[in-house]
Amino acid sequence: MVHNFNAGPSILPKEVFEEASRSVLDYNGTGLSILEIGHRTPLFQEVMDEARALVKELMNLDDDHEVLFLHGGASTQFMQVPMNLLDDKETAAYTDTGVWSTKAIKEAKLFGKVEVVCSSKESNFTYIPKDFAVPNDAKYLHITTNNTIYGTQWQKIPKTSNSLVADMSSDILSREMDFNSFDLIYAGAQKNVGAAGVNLVVVNKNILGKVKRTIPTILDYRNHIKEGSMLNTPPVFAIYVCMLTLRWLKEQGGVAAIEKRNNEKAALLYQALDENPLFKGTVNKDDRSKMNVCFVMNDPSMEQSFLQFTKEQGIVGIKGHRLVGGFRASLYNALPLESVQVLAELMREFAGQHA
Ligand SMILES: *Cc1c(COP(=O)(O)O)cnc(C)c1O
Repeated sequence: MVHNFNAGPSILPKEVFEEASRSVLDYNGTGLSILEIGHRTPLFQEVMDEARALVKELMNLDDDHEVLFLHGGASTQFMQVPMNLLDDKETAAYTDTGVWSTKAIKEAKLFGKVEVVCSSKESNFTYIPKDFAVPNDAKYLHITTNNTIYGTQWQKIPKTSNSLVADMSSDILSREMDFNSFDLIYAGAQKNVGAAGVNLVVVNKNILGKVKRTIPTILDYRNHIKEGSMLNTPPVFAIYVCMLTLRWLKEQGGVAAIEKRNNEKAALLYQALDENPLFKGTVNKDDRSKMNVCFVMNDPSMEQSFLQFTKEQGIVGIKGHRLVGGFRASLYNALPLESVQVLAELMREFAGQHA
């Protein structure tokens, strides 16, 4: 039995793997693989339609918000967002809460002025800044809702009169939120939504078409909206896997139900961490992520042996990111509670042997 705590690409529901692999051989009894049908055939159109409809339903989106599945990872959105929303004399406000935020800031500077309104960089991103002001004239405020590498998460989305843009790559659809209050949301699919190779973008169509620059056809969101996310050949298999994962999420009871389970998983692991004399969390408790739990050992020389110990019991993917060290256990939607129970128990057992 393997317990997969990988940070991304990461665990998806077993049912999704089963159905996706059946469809590679024979999609819905057609005798054709999902990989060999034209993207403009009714067979694939129904996949695209269902995927977009499920996102709308699960996120409770209004009619102004359009759902797109675009090529490339979240990193493509770092530049596509400012290219579409920010003129070169205008300012955008960015919060700097981790490596991914820093990368988004770097790209935005290519298109306009960037004001970094807060940063936790001085403490290696161990907390979410609370007091900061956003200039009234900022075209938008950008946040990274969950900082995958450091294990912090915005528990409260900042209130702002500015347009709100969010990188939700590692916590999208993991907790309830007023998704309509965002003008643009993007997420690489490979953490909570599906397979790598596609981006989920949710955009309020009313904010588009305001910049003066000429946007290359393939990078202009308006063209993708017009063409129903089929401006060119979309990443068909990645979108198909997203659709299956979204279906699964709906069957689980939707975002509210999965949030309850995610809360349970995170509470269990953080409790095991806090009561264990060998381990300590790496971030401010109030800002702890429910998706990526980061921790180290008080005696770093024991880390290799804990890693080996858990590996022997089927634990996969808990080595921390090189920028933080220690461990990171990612508890995405598809990770079962049982896997968290196993890891928590192994931490207790290890402490019993070594404390
Ligand atoms: C993983 C991740 C990214 C990068 O996604 P790619 O799809 O590899 O470009 C960006 N932002 C956050 C918050 C992430 O977790």
